[in-house]
Amino acid sequence: MTETTTSSGGRPSLPMQGIPQPRRDEVLDLPRVHISSHPVMAHKMTALRDKNTQPPEFYRLVKEIGALLAYEATATLALETVPIETPMGPMVGERLAGGIGVTPILRAGLGLAEGFREVIPDAQIWHLGLRRDEETLQAIAYYNQLPHQVDLQVCYAVDPMLATGGSAIDAINVLKRRDIPRLCYVGIIAAPYGLLKLSQTHPDVDIYIAALDESLNDVGYILPGLGDAGDRQFGTF
Ligand code: URA
Repeated sequence: MTETTTSSGGRPSLPMQGIPQPRRDEVLDLPRVHISSHPVMAHKMTALRDKNTQPPEFYRLVKEIGALLAYEATATLALETVPIETPMGPMVGERLAGGIGVTPILRAGLGLAEGFREVIPDAQIWHLGLRRDEETLQAIAYYNQLPHQVDLQVCYAVDPMLATGGSAIDAINVLKRRDIPRLCYVGIIAAPYGLLKLSQTHPDVDIYIAALDESLNDVGYILPGLGDAGDRQFGTF
């Protein structure tokens, strides 16, 4: 992880310098925020955060954590009844009512989306690449594979690090232009600042995370965090 980034003019860019941040305990009880308390999750998170964990293992852990988060985030999905025949006779079973969409925010969301697919192989994967126009600060979708016809009961925007909240908010804005009854955000680690921003901007969106960390540093990285989730998945240091 680099300590500073440079803007196009070569000046150091410190977007969070001097910006007040909420404390962890101030955002713990936000409505619609779900923080995993599963011991297996805590175990995997420690391995994920460890700086000695190499990209192949890191990617495997992101997928496994994605599967655990998918299990938690799908606990309230709607079901419909369906008559079936077991080898022993007829019964009325249940199946998910309506499709499931997963939107990985490129590129760091790819591993999480793979984890979701382990739990819901039928999920549609809607890839979304976003960048900010430096002048207008508007989000621009440089890659958008959202289908034209939508028949989903829920769509999950997935991105491991909820830092300043900018891309999560932008992604939900893009998804809100589609006719989807329910939207959720799923991440691995959130900073209090980004969590509060996302929750205030989109109070109708459920947020599922594995851990809530302490703060953001001046360049917007989460502390203690895990570094750059994209670089660590794909080995691009
Ligand atoms: N994105 C990352 O990959 N890591 C952070 O800590 C913040 C944003």
